[in-house]
This record gives sequence, structure tokens and C-alpha cells, in this order.
Amino acid sequence: MKLLVTGGAGFIGSAVIRLVLRETAAAVVNLDKLTYAANLDSLAAIAHDPRYAFEKVDICDRPEVERVFRQHRPDAVMHLAAESHVDRSIDAPASFLQTNVVGTCTLLEVALDYWRALPSERQSGFRFHHVSTDEVYGSLGPTGRFSETTAYEPNSPYSASKAASDHFARAWHQTYGLPVVASNCSNNYGPWQFPEKLIPLVTVNALLGKPLPVYGQGENVRDWLFVEDHARALWLILTAGRVGETYNVGGDSERRNLAVVEAICDLVDEMAPKLAGGPRRALIEFVRDRPGHDLRYAIDASKLQAELGWRPREDFASGLDRTVAWYLDNRAWWERLRAGIYAGDRLGLGRQKVDQT
Ligand code: NAD
Repeated sequence: MKLLVTGGAGFIGSAVIRLVLRETAAAVVNLDKLTYAANLDSLAAIAHDPRYAFEKVDICDRPEVERVFRQHRPDAVMHLAAESHVDRSIDAPASFLQTNVVGTCTLLEVALDYWRALPSERQSGFRFHHVSTDEVYGSLGPTGRFSETTAYEPNSPYSASKAASDHFARAWHQTYGLPVVASNCSNNYGPWQFPEKLIPLVTVNALLGKPLPVYGQGENVRDWLFVEDHARALWLILTAGRVGETYNVGGDSERRNLAVVEAICDLVDEMAPKLAGGPRRALIEFVRDRPGHDLRYAIDASKLQAELGWRPREDFASGLDRTVAWYLDNRAWWERLRAGIYAGDRLGLGRQKVDQT
């Protein structure tokens, strides 16, 4: 099989590509615009594999997307390309509308034309896997979990754009018959995550002895999943999921943000040289909350578990341990990003004045 992955130079896409080339016989075409979030270092180990091809293309560029389909003739598409950071969506929502909504529609249109022209035996096996987030469901109170039937209530520009793209993917199946499968996953963490997201940002700042910003009182709860467990779930959903269905993916690992930050402090204290000022928990600073910050996410992944037999291999303790160790071992990689693209500044206060109160 030949799989076209969009956004394959990103955090999750690169984990999928490494997994597919390592554990299956499939060939992979990686279509990626290479935005600030992309990172070809994460693919260096497989870049010369004869089953791998890279195309630097924007999913909004229809003629180029058509060329990629014509040239590579994929059997399936796994669509991960997106603007993915909630804080950046608060500061610059238009780019989220463009890539996540217009780009997804462009890709769906091209995929539909391509699929319609396939011979019937290839048509029936073709899949378009739309990859999304649990953030489309909005915010939970202290109890309950998101299931595949939970109503959409997106609160951030990011989740609104992802919700819109989910609806378009669904519509392309219902209206035109494109064989779409979809998945909504909780927060991922692991190696190669751009150090603007909570876990890598805090790990890097803790190592450097810099302040550790915690939004609000750190009471917000996320349901964490190790990225390689998500990649295995995505491959299963693509290859064995039922057409027209959505699968929720989550690791049953709810944690308050403050508890996550404290756990990272303790791991860095254990694995790295001690700081003169004492334990790294002292670096924690409560800063102004994210506008519209969803209180709690939690995923019910029982459909995926029952139908496809998926189970995460890492629990939060083992996954966090691996992740923190990876950031300590790969300092040259994130130091380059910190020096060039993103120095760790506060994002996501919109037009308000940025401060640390
Ligand atoms: P990421 O930001 O690390 O990577 C996104 C990739 O998409 C980058 O390589 C970027 O260059 C590429 N891209 C962006 N705009 C593009 C465009 N117009 N054309 C082509 N490529 C473009 O994101 P991620 O964390 O790997 O997330 C991947 C997908 O998974 C996204 O759709 C995201 O919504 C979804 N998701 C992420 C999480 C998470 O915790 N990170 C959780 C659930 C779902």
C-alpha cells in the first residue's frame, strides 16, 4: 500500500511515518508545507528509505496537491496537516481558518476526484483518514468523558477550525461517498514535540532554570497520550476502522496541569544536575490564564478498544520519563529552535498586553 500523509514533518505525522516504515511494508509520501512547526530532523533516520518520498506542498495549493495525487497514486490518505497550537490560534486565527478548513476542503476535493477515477478494485480499498482532536467537544466539568456521540462545542479558534474540518470530512463521506474514517484524540506528548507545547516547554525551561509558566491556577485537566500510542491507533483506524465511523483515542491519563509541571520538575531534578536555587518546583509561576481556557478534557476510548483491540503501551509515568529523558539527550535540537524560531515567549493573549502577572 502507498500512504499519503499530510503534515508528516510535524510531531504526530513524523511518529506515524517512522512507525509505518519500521513496522509495515507500506510506502509513504509525506506532503508538508514545512511551517515553523515542521521538523525534518525527526525523519532523518528514514529519509533515505526507498519507500519514502517527500513533497514540500501547501494543502491549500490545489494544482500542487493534484500533481502529488497524479504522480504518487496513493491507496490511502492520512490527513494530519494543520495549524495545531491553541495559543497561536488566539493571536492569529486566520491562518487556522486557511489551513485547517480551506486546506482540508481542498484536499477533500482533490481526493474525491482522484478516488472517483480509480478502478473499482482500488476504489473500494481507498481510505481518507481525517485526524482531529478532542478539543472539538468543548470543556467538561469535573465528571464525565467525551464519547464519539458527544455534541461539538468548540471554544478556541483552533478547535473551531478543527470542528469545521471534521464536519467537512463527514460531509464528503455522506454526500459524495468518499470512504472517510475519522479520529479525535486527546493531548499528545513525546519526543520531537515543538517546544511551545506544555510538556516540552516546561522540560526545557526547567533544565535551563527559567520560570515555569502555569496558566491560571494550573487546575485545567488534560488526558495525556504518548505520541507513539496515538500513531499505532491511527494506523489501526486507517487499516481496520469502519468507513464513515469516528474513533476517539485517549490514554486514560487525566492530570491537572500543575501536577504535570510538578512531575516534570521532579524528573529533571533526578536526571539533570541540581540547580543552586533548590528543587525546580520553585520555578513555577502562575500567570494570567489563557482566554477561554477549557477546564477539562477526558476521552472514552472504549469503541477503539472494543472494535480494534487498541491499548496504549505507555502509562503517563513511563511516557513522561521517556519524554523528559529524550529532551535532555537532544538538547542541540531544541536549542536550535529556541535560538531561531521560538524563544519560549508567552503566546495566546490575543491583543492584550503580554505580562506575567
Ligand atoms: P504539528 O503542528 O506538530 O505539525 C503540523 C504539520 O503540518 C507541520 O509539519 C506543518 O508544516 C504541516 N502544515 C501546516 N500547515 C500546512 C499546510 N497548509 N500544508 C501542508 N502542511 C502543513 O501538529 P501535530 O501536533 O503533529 O498535530 C497533527 C494533527 O493531529 C493535527 O491535525 C492536530 O489537529 C491533530 N491532533 C494533535 C494533537 C496534539 O496533542 N498535538 C492531539 C489530537 C489531534
